[in-house]
Amino acid sequence: MYDELIALRHQVALNTGFANYRDYKHEELGRFDYSVQDCHNFQDAIQQHIVPLVKQNEQARKDALKLDVYRPWDKEVDAEGKEPLKPFTTGEDLATKTIECFNTIDPYFGECITIMQNIKRLDLESRIGKAPGGYNYPLMETDVPFIFMNAVGLHRDMVTMVHEGGHAVHAFLAADLELTEFKSTPSEVAELASMSMELISMEHWEPFFPNPEDYKRAKKEQLNDVLKGLPWIASIDKFQHWIYTNPKHTLEERYAYWMQISKDFGTGVVDYTGLESNLQRSWQAQLHLYEVPFYYIEYGMAQLGAIAMWRSYKQNPKQALANYKKALSLGYMKTIPQLYEAAGIKFDFSPAYVKELADFVKSEYEKL
Ligand SMILES: [Zn+2]
Repeated sequence: MYDELIALRHQVALNTGFANYRDYKHEELGRFDYSVQDCHNFQDAIQQHIVPLVKQNEQARKDALKLDVYRPWDKEVDAEGKEPLKPFTTGEDLATKTIECFNTIDPYFGECITIMQNIKRLDLESRIGKAPGGYNYPLMETDVPFIFMNAVGLHRDMVTMVHEGGHAVHAFLAADLELTEFKSTPSEVAELASMSMELISMEHWEPFFPNPEDYKRAKKEQLNDVLKGLPWIASIDKFQHWIYTNPKHTLEERYAYWMQISKDFGTGVVDYTGLESNLQRSWQAQLHLYEVPFYYIEYGMAQLGAIAMWRSYKQNPKQALANYKKALSLGYMKTIPQLYEAAGIKFDFSPAYVKELADFVKSEYEKL
């Protein structure tokens, strides 16, 4: 299927006067605020400055598990053998605690979720027959969005809720813009709102984790997930650049290239002996490669932005929140770099800037 898709996509690019599908897709995605080179800079900076941190954490897990051979399935278990975190029980409980948490950050954020709850715009609990997934969906007529998700009490569900809560706050803040299109931001900006909310709210997760040990563990899990996500995003992006600029590659070459990427962006801690054929096909787990090519790096860019936003919140909460609200209220009325600037951060993938952010995450992680 993928072979067929690549051939067809390459032909689409040629038919429309592009040299390759990568260049076609960048144009189609409206990426006029950053270039192909910026994507490569992002990939390189992640490899240089984030991968070593992930490696350090992975090694620490291996040591904690007292394993000589650390296998892929060892990556997901709790290293101390603890039961999963249980930050809430029902959907009602999740909403109440989220409002309490958001109120502590900024009463305006709490009010947004309260309004949604009062007019039944929160459908949070999983139930039989319900469609899977989790999202915030804007409703332009009333300008009050709704949040749909499938919570079952897990830590991950709680993170999804504060993430979608960030999208919801964004919808409220941009509500006064005149046209619907003005309110509709690209993912580089939309995910900045939600991912920043994940990290900022982390400073106020007491309602979910009254026990300090659980709270610390939840923060560690969150930061670990943030770090682990970035090399994967960079890998998927780098892979696609190669795929579509070398459309005539063979299957063997594709596997070989992915194995090289897995080595460059992997930690080297995990032993894949006997699972090489699984590893060389592991990119197939990312549906974006099939369904929405090149759409993915946006999340990495926004994640770096969210780390910067969290850092400025730690330095000066009042100023950071004012900037956050200002940027979100602009909708898509400015360019992406201008929106990041309004948020008090940079849209920048230079190794120096990414290193700064990586050092910050590292120092925060070490405090836990
Ligand atoms: Zn999101």
